[in-house]
Amino acid sequence: LTSRLQKAFRDLSGKGHVSKSDLRKTMRQIRLALLDADVNFDVVRKFVRQVQDKAVGANVLEGLNPSQQIVKIVDEELTKTMGTKAVPLNKAKTIPTVIMMVGLQGAGKTTTAGKLALRLKTAHKAHPLMIAADVYRPAAVDQLVQVGQQIKVPVFQMGTHHDPVDIVKAGLAQAHRDHNNYVIIDTAGRLQIDTKLMNELKRIKALAKPNEILLTVDAMTGQNAVKTAKGFNDALDITGVALTKLDGDTRGGAALSIRAVTHKPIKFVGEGEKLQDLDIFHPDRMASRILGMGDILTLIDKAKKGYDKKKAEKLTKKIQENTFDFNDFLAQLNKIQHMGPLKNIMKLIPGMANNPIMKKANMNPKQMDHIKAIVYSMTKQERAHPEILTPSRKRRIARGSGRPIQIVNRVIKQFNSMKKLMNQMSNGNFGGLGKMNKM
Ligand code: GDP
Ligand code: MG
Repeated sequence: LTSRLQKAFRDLSGKGHVSKSDLRKTMRQIRLALLDADVNFDVVRKFVRQVQDKAVGANVLEGLNPSQQIVKIVDEELTKTMGTKAVPLNKAKTIPTVIMMVGLQGAGKTTTAGKLALRLKTAHKAHPLMIAADVYRPAAVDQLVQVGQQIKVPVFQMGTHHDPVDIVKAGLAQAHRDHNNYVIIDTAGRLQIDTKLMNELKRIKALAKPNEILLTVDAMTGQNAVKTAKGFNDALDITGVALTKLDGDTRGGAALSIRAVTHKPIKFVGEGEKLQDLDIFHPDRMASRILGMGDILTLIDKAKKGYDKKKAEKLTKKIQENTFDFNDFLAQLNKIQHMGPLKNIMKLIPGMANNPIMKKANMNPKQMDHIKAIVYSMTKQERAHPEILTPSRKRRIARGSGRPIQIVNRVIKQFNSMKKLMNQMSNGNFGGLGKMNKM
């Protein structure tokens, strides 16, 4: 999706105005790109029509910078389709708030239950209880018990020889006794939606009266994710969605269509197997990500969380003032290597995801070291003022780093375009990322 859309925008940029046929061509490409990313056909059709209407209404044909306007409209409409704002968990008036996890087998229910419990515990100082109500897979109960031990959250279980409804009933009684303010029910899944599973879930729902029925969907299942979401929503009237495995090579298409088809908010996204890897779903950020602009907001969030806040602000300022230099670049590279799964972070830095050098480095950590070697071979002055890099200096750097001159040139070229892109984005020249300004 990303590269397709970017191509569509590239084709538009550099032109003084957009003709009707340009607009039609771009819309065609956007439609193909979305379909390519497994977005539901009807959603795509509706989406493209919305954007087209807006584009025409906004007088794009007479605008000063039509390509930017179209990017902005596409970004806004993507955000709107996904719900505009992050939606928090429902809360009960009197404790406990009951959250029921539902979804197909392997979607990530048990993992997400643990992630959610950890999040509630740390961010909301809550005392959750988890209930093991998957009695079909022999290891399911143990799995939840282990998750509970890891995060020090109690797990209620009765083995696998009871009716899940009875287990939930007993679990809720214990939660009342122990004054747990949250209860998370981990239910069974199937490989396919079937009546037996749905009937059991309906019975649990009728008993537990959950405040939140959180459907867990594997984002990597593409078009099937939409069918799953529709099936569960029709049967259970879910209240929210947790989209898992977004750390994989998924392209966000599922987020777009699940919301459009079920009209239920995506509340959380799973971004890894670890119990810390849960994030609130931000439609605007997802839109930017789908557009391939990198999710700079999330990145800055992460940087703030894991690193010095001041440093992150300084970096933002540097990007905005266009004084981002090779020292900053190096600092970023080092930071990235410390921030865990490189692939995740790469996607988040505008210009990096589609940067061929970075892509290579991403697949091969050795490449990353090569890039670093090149930067380390620069003098302090060269790093701070890349514009002084003359051919003879570049040759010296090539010798120093043991990399061919072509690679040195390429790294410098990529650095420059990345810098330019980051600056443009931070100054709001790329539609949706104008949000950066407000930071
Ligand atoms: P359940 O059958 O729905 O309870 O699914 P599980 O919670 O057992 O998860 C199935 C598999 O998906 C496990 O190997 C999890 O580690 C993995 N998993 C769950 N969420 C994520 C995620 O956000 N990212 C990745 N990479 N793996 C995940
Ligand atoms: Mg499970």
